[in-house]
Amino acid sequence: MALAGLQAWWRGLLRPPPPCFHCGDPVRQAVQLHFAGANRLLCCHGCAAVLTAVQAAGQEQAYLAHKNASPPVDS
Ligand SMILES: [Zn+2]
Repeated sequence: MALAGLQAWWRGLLRPPPPCFHCGDPVRQAVQLHFAGANRLLCCHGCAAVLTAVQAAGQEQAYLAHKNASPPVDS
């Protein structure tokens, strides 16, 4: 019976994409970057470039503290 497979496919279609680690936008073309000890999912290379710059400056902890202080804005 193919119905179960069809239902799984449909659920996958309806599931919203995960949010970008940096900006919170839906991730459609995933970019992964290792940042502050974990792999992060990003929506574009622009966000990856921001995190790369933060790491280059050694500001990961300041970035995470700021991020936790300001939750993503609903759009
Ligand atoms: Zn992003």
